[in-house]
Amino acid sequence: MHYQPKHDLLEQRIILVTGAGDGIGREAALTYAKFGAQLVLLGRTESKLRAVQSEIARLGGAPSFTVTLDLLHTTQEQCKQVADDLATQIPRLDGVLHNAGLLGDIAPMADLSMEMWHDVMQVNVNATFMLTQALLPLLLKSNSGSLVFTSSSVGRTGRANWGAYAVSKFATEGMMQVLAEEYKSRHLRVNCINPGGTRTQMRASAFPNEDKNKLKTPADIMPLYLYLMGDDSRRKTGMSFDAQPNRKPGAAE
Ligand code: NDP
Repeated sequence: MHYQPKHDLLEQRIILVTGAGDGIGREAALTYAKFGAQLVLLGRTESKLRAVQSEIARLGGAPSFTVTLDLLHTTQEQCKQVADDLATQIPRLDGVLHNAGLLGDIAPMADLSMEMWHDVMQVNVNATFMLTQALLPLLLKSNSGSLVFTSSSVGRTGRANWGAYAVSKFATEGMMQVLAEEYKSRHLRVNCINPGGTRTQMRASAFPNEDKNKLKTPADIMPLYLYLMGDDSRRKTGMSFDAQPNRKPGAAE
């Protein structure tokens, strides 16, 4: 995406990123901080979140918060507690980036275990739903809230062996569309990002034999992440965006 954000695009905005300790989520958190946002860093590995928090401080960003939460085992009550605790520390949320995700096994449907199916659905769908429900009151306090889900090309067109992950991303697209309709007359827009093949741990697990140097880095795909969190996307809702629109899905060739 060719997008030139203003350097203060996210000034005065408070943004929560899930899976903020690594990969695309880490890069998004650092990028949002560079453009002026205050961050809430949510993830399961506290040491990684603290490292991102320190990096934001080193860059001169606004003091950020960390929330350690394992989305695989979280409950509705825990998510509500996270939101209640946040409400004592911040006045509102202007953006939430649901980025944390679990790939699970790349295997034919016939071979998928129920446990793996459940884990992928739990992290990618159930926890995303529970966290969204809990955070909606804080998001609705913003006069220009942006809720962003993370999809995938296999969340739009099914692909053999992508099993639970692909189905979970179709569900993510559905969740985005339902919420976008529900809030279309309020100050909350809801959209999806499909990052496209990006150089991270998850990508390396899915395609261990590809040449990772042919992949975009998380930093390369940040223009879309910025666009959707800033006021330039204020009128966009119910849409699914590609961070790499011209990329063919699958292994890098
Ligand atoms: P990574 O595996 O590099 O990072 C995933 C992040 O999610 C990590 O910070 C991880 O935490 C966190 N996470 C995983 N499980 C949990 C959990 N149970 N509770 C809390 N946090 C958790 O993935 P990417 O950066 O590649 O992916 C980010 C998003 O983009 C995902 O939703 C993925 O499906 C999507 N995507 C990625 C593509 C790619 O090519 N990279 C392509 C299409 C979509 P920890 O560091 O502690 O493990």
